[in-house]
Amino acid sequence: MSDQNEVVEGYLELVATVREYVEEQMQLGFTELFEEEEEPESEFAQFDLEQLRNEAMGCERCELHQGRNTVVFGAGSESADLMFVGEAPGADEDDQGVPFVGRAGQLLTRIIEAMELKREDIYIANVIKCRPPGNRNPKPVEIESCEPFLLRQIELIKPKVICALGTFAAQTLLRTNQSISSLRGSFHDYHGCKLMATYHPAYLLRNPHGKRDVWEDMQKVMAELKT
Ligand code: SF4
Repeated sequence: MSDQNEVVEGYLELVATVREYVEEQMQLGFTELFEEEEEPESEFAQFDLEQLRNEAMGCERCELHQGRNTVVFGAGSESADLMFVGEAPGADEDDQGVPFVGRAGQLLTRIIEAMELKREDIYIANVIKCRPPGNRNPKPVEIESCEPFLLRQIELIKPKVICALGTFAAQTLLRTNQSISSLRGSFHDYHGCKLMATYHPAYLLRNPHGKRDVWEDMQKVMAELKT
């Protein structure tokens, strides 16, 4: 047999095997060969905001529960169009159980007021709900453990715009290593919401020259909220 005949025979054999497999699958009730894998449902998928809060308040999913005074779940309007997401609670937040209440939080409040909004109109949360010791950066395993709380918060509140405050929140939400200076200034798509990344208020306390950029970002957010 020539080489060419061998190739053709091999090909026909392969086609017959594939046909047999497809027919077998159809008899078993599969109508599509490559069904899309569905994302596993989060353990919080059926929780409302109150149930989610209660779950977080007793959470021991990562080691951060050992050093916390309290869990800082989030605060504000549950039907907010705008949601700010920061990194993790600091000492003041850990004392009071409310996000963004220290010096950086006071600056955030002034930014919100300059946008002609009130804190009660918006929702504020962090990626991590318990204070990392000494305000160190959260570890990947802590982010992985805590992020489902934030994702469910976003799913329930359904904000029109999310504003990620600082490198850490922006990189975590957008699953990127890009710098905050390259991420800020324009909207990103985040599960159907518009996401604007901007500098963290704590950064602005140390680098006041960044305020102009933040204000530019907030003007874009205000315009988007009006559409
Ligand atoms: S940081 Fe999040 S995952 Fe870790 S203990 Fe606190 S609430 Fe639970």
